[in-house]
Amino acid sequence: MNLSDPVESIKGVGEQTLKKLNKLNIYTVGDLLYHFPREYEDRSKIRKISEIEYNEVNTILAKIGTLPQNLKKGRQILTKVNLRDDSGSLFAVWFGQPYLKKQFQLNDTYLFSGKVTFKYGQIQMESPDYEKVAEDQNIFARPIIPIYPSTYKLSQKIIRQLIRNALDETQNQLIEFLPLWIRKKYQLADYNYSMNNIHFPESDQSYFIARTRLVFEELFLLQMGLMSIKNQMDQKRKGIAFKSISELGEFIRSLPFELTSAQKRVVEEIKKDMISEKVMNRLVQGDVGSGKTIVAAIALFIAVKNNYQGVMMAPTEVLATQHYQGLAPILNQFNIRTGLLTGSLTKKQKENILKQIKEGEIDIVFGTHALIQENVAFKALGLVITDEQHRFGVRQRTILSEKGSNPDVLVMTATPIPRTLALILYGDLDISIIDELPPGRQKIDTYSVNSSYRHRVYQFIKKELMSGRQAYIICPMVEESDDQELQSVISYTDQIKHEFEEYNISYLHGKMKPKEKQKVMEEFLKGEIHILVSTTVIEVGVNVPNATIMLIENAERFGLAQLHQLRGRVGRGQFKSYCILITDSKSKVTMERMKVMKKTNNGFEISETDLKIRGPGEFFGTRQHGLPDLKIANLYKDISILKKAQEACIEVLNMDPNLEKEEHQLLKSRIHQLFSEKIKEISL
Ligand code: ADP
Ligand code: MG
Repeated sequence: MNLSDPVESIKGVGEQTLKKLNKLNIYTVGDLLYHFPREYEDRSKIRKISEIEYNEVNTILAKIGTLPQNLKKGRQILTKVNLRDDSGSLFAVWFGQPYLKKQFQLNDTYLFSGKVTFKYGQIQMESPDYEKVAEDQNIFARPIIPIYPSTYKLSQKIIRQLIRNALDETQNQLIEFLPLWIRKKYQLADYNYSMNNIHFPESDQSYFIARTRLVFEELFLLQMGLMSIKNQMDQKRKGIAFKSISELGEFIRSLPFELTSAQKRVVEEIKKDMISEKVMNRLVQGDVGSGKTIVAAIALFIAVKNNYQGVMMAPTEVLATQHYQGLAPILNQFNIRTGLLTGSLTKKQKENILKQIKEGEIDIVFGTHALIQENVAFKALGLVITDEQHRFGVRQRTILSEKGSNPDVLVMTATPIPRTLALILYGDLDISIIDELPPGRQKIDTYSVNSSYRHRVYQFIKKELMSGRQAYIICPMVEESDDQELQSVISYTDQIKHEFEEYNISYLHGKMKPKEKQKVMEEFLKGEIHILVSTTVIEVGVNVPNATIMLIENAERFGLAQLHQLRGRVGRGQFKSYCILITDSKSKVTMERMKVMKKTNNGFEISETDLKIRGPGEFFGTRQHGLPDLKIANLYKDISILKKAQEACIEVLNMDPNLEKEEHQLLKSRIHQLFSEKIKEISL
């Protein structure tokens, strides 16, 4: 059996189960085996009901004492069942899961695990996990039991059994792909041992050993994959050596503001790169509103005054247009000819601008993905800038660069990335950080409230609108999804119309045509729209200084980085601004996120905390970058393993850059397996 075999080849996976597994993104045997437990239950710690600790998670072995009852509690259904053992009894309660009523038979024995409280004169175990125990089953045979990320539709028991089957069927046949020398050097356990013990640990110790290896493996493979892409790109090419431009000082003095010292520093770093013969490959990281655009303009200025063309690509039409409209006037003053190329131009307009680019009649072109199309050719492209680069893939950037001959490259991002992550993702890029906001910016006051405050929040918004300001309201999705009561943009807009009768409300979402979006954005910018209800399409780079309120519905749906990005849409002018997060979630992660948002406006601090509370999983709260998700490594906790994995990666590539040695063949094919299709889509 192979990791890449379909998961149906495992005993017990029928059609129904397969569907459920697919929902968990499990398609192959490998996917199943890499579906690691989210936690473990230690059965040696099972308590008698009489020994229960309140306000803690307890595990008990108990019989169903009475048939379950479904009770109405407000708008919710409460399912309640009496549990007993020989020392006492308590009630298990679940909310909103009426189907549980049919689950339990009188006198059946179950393991229950959940938080226990003393409420209304009763001992209650709240929404416990449960697992049926057969008469003859010795539950103490193996004390540490895995608990998997799952949905209620796929019980712990089934998922555990499927993984057990998969392990049995692949027993000791998983092919070790880490070279022996690496395993020896870093003291890493064998593959089969690790797989067995991550799922069904024999002891705490064996769990630890297994986890260490799998974390190393994950980070090492990720690193190897990324490095091999970088190797392909970085062929120590000779680039353009731009000359210093004496007019630059005049250009900078002509700007309506003085550069911050962080901007000045970054400009110097860029200048140095541009003057050198090496191809510039620089990432500019700066929090939202830190003033990256003008830094880009300065670099473009240098390129053009050296008789080269420059291009600046943005992920959305709104943003590209904003760049064009903001920068064209100041560049034009210095006889620099600018143009805008986006998907929504007419054929005629397009042909015209393509011709001008080709013949060198335009010096700087701003635009969207439209720029990377085949028919776009430059006369002498010297500088390529991508804004909000996490929205683009490596390939897109490369295609754009190939329209010149080794042009300098500048990429900009407002996603502040903790050092550790930058180390993984951008090992090949030089990094400049704009860690200072322009003067006079006020802290954005942030509040988090539950939905019972919504009306009061609306009153507050009205007050701001009355004094001439504007507001954003963010809802997570366009259409109402099946199983979640999410506020959709369109129905939300309808709902609030009567609240804000005297104001213009409009909406924006990803499925609108670029032209429509453009129109809405322009009206909002002009102040004709007072409230803009939007999905996260608004997230990237939009600048409307008169907007002072950012209201985010279902705030639990967003990662910290995203919340921070959204908040950055306000506080861009001279007015005091506010961010209000509405959530009814009481989950620990949500609570912590809200706390961080209230506490700080600093993007780097936020991203550090994000890593800390997030654990493995998504990198930035989005999947757009195309990297495989981390399934086990925690970039915060596992820093020391990360360093070792990086060290090992460099060692391998120094010794065997193209992985040609016999001992690296299995490793090579594993990397291919993981990255093959994705490798070019990954955004760096
Ligand atoms: P971001 O880094 O998010 O792309 P922008 O480049 O859009 O930020 O800048 C945000 C706002 O700050 C713009 O209105 C811009 O004109 C202004 N700005 C940029 N640099 C300065 C500065 N040094 N002093 C004052 N305002 C500045
Ligand atoms: Mg920007």
